[in-house]
Amino acid sequence: MSDLDFVSGGKPIAIERGEGPYLYSTDGTEYVDAGASFACTPLGHSHPAVVDAVQEQVGDLTFVDSSYPVQAREDAYAALVAAAPDGLESAWFCNSGTEANEAALKFARSATGNSKIVAATRSFHGRTMGALAATWKDKYKKPFEPLAGDVEFVPYGDGEELAAAVDDETAAVILEPIQGEGGINVPPAGYLETARETTEDAGAALVLDEVQTGMGRTGEMWACQRAGVTPDVLTTAKGLGNGLPVGAVAVTDWIADGAASHNATFSGGPVVAAAVHATVSTLVEEEWPAHAADVGEYLAAELEAALDDEIREVRGDGLLVGIELKRGANRVARDLAMDHQILALPAGRTVLRLLPPLVIDEEVADHLVNALTAVIAPEAQSEA
Ligand SMILES: *Cc1c(COP(=O)(O)O)cnc(C)c1O
Repeated sequence: MSDLDFVSGGKPIAIERGEGPYLYSTDGTEYVDAGASFACTPLGHSHPAVVDAVQEQVGDLTFVDSSYPVQAREDAYAALVAAAPDGLESAWFCNSGTEANEAALKFARSATGNSKIVAATRSFHGRTMGALAATWKDKYKKPFEPLAGDVEFVPYGDGEELAAAVDDETAAVILEPIQGEGGINVPPAGYLETARETTEDAGAALVLDEVQTGMGRTGEMWACQRAGVTPDVLTTAKGLGNGLPVGAVAVTDWIADGAASHNATFSGGPVVAAAVHATVSTLVEEEWPAHAADVGEYLAAELEAALDDEIREVRGDGLLVGIELKRGANRVARDLAMDHQILALPAGRTVLRLLPPLVIDEEVADHLVNALTAVIAPEAQSEA
């Protein structure tokens, strides 16, 4: 098995159980989940509030379609809209991140009457035909072309280029507030404000894809709140159901009023709705986003202090952490897993990504720093 196989597919670790920030393999080994579940478990694995809500719901009513009022769906809807940035007063549930972005682009097109989409280099928005058209990497797109789109790409982080690409034929600008798959890229201050002003002036929709950045990971419920920018459309998925497959789109009134018909059979099904309600209300009531900000700040500072000479940069926000290495990230991820039982993800060739559950404490953060030091700077560790 090559290094690449390890991170892209067949990992030789059979996981059987999860609890909090830990995963347990069939041979009983404990692993720290620092990203292996793709940011899908903000409350940690098998959180009792989510498990109880789901178990109760699946026994009472596993499914009925969304034309019937069901308490679980109404609770999930109310929790999501209350937790959404002010100004986003309606929402629609779907099953995944790509489907949320697909809906966002449809809503923007129908509400504006335009078709042109502006997206950013190094973006990732999902793998169905529309979301894929707004995704940057040729590797994901080329074999499937032509895709659904009139998409123009502008360099991520460059406000002037973005403003120049938007005109009165633009339906939407779609951006990640911090890019995830593309390498944990944080835009310069003022970039999202520029996107906000430009789209508002042109009558286009600003779509912020918070599938990876949302659910408290960056220190607020949504990363756009860190930047003080409210989009017209916000998409979420990954951590929304703490591991159950669910996504959502939250929209402002002019989008809700102008969007044409769109739906999906499983939209807001009772079981995933129970998971959403439990996840969102626990995150908000127990103030996990603020905890993520604190532990994330501690983790980044400790990484910088321990590995100053060995890495190029630590970037991100809260517990969305990218470490730009001076070597390949695949091998570092493999060594962390095999030698230190820490599961982390690469994001591009030289960036190691940490997306642990928000419930980790400073002790777990120290453990991550020590293990990473042992992998990439064993001399530094033996001196300490
Ligand atoms: C993972 C991801 C998606 C796609 O979500 P799926 O649930 O895999 O379809 C879209 N956007 C961003 C920013 C993501 O990180």
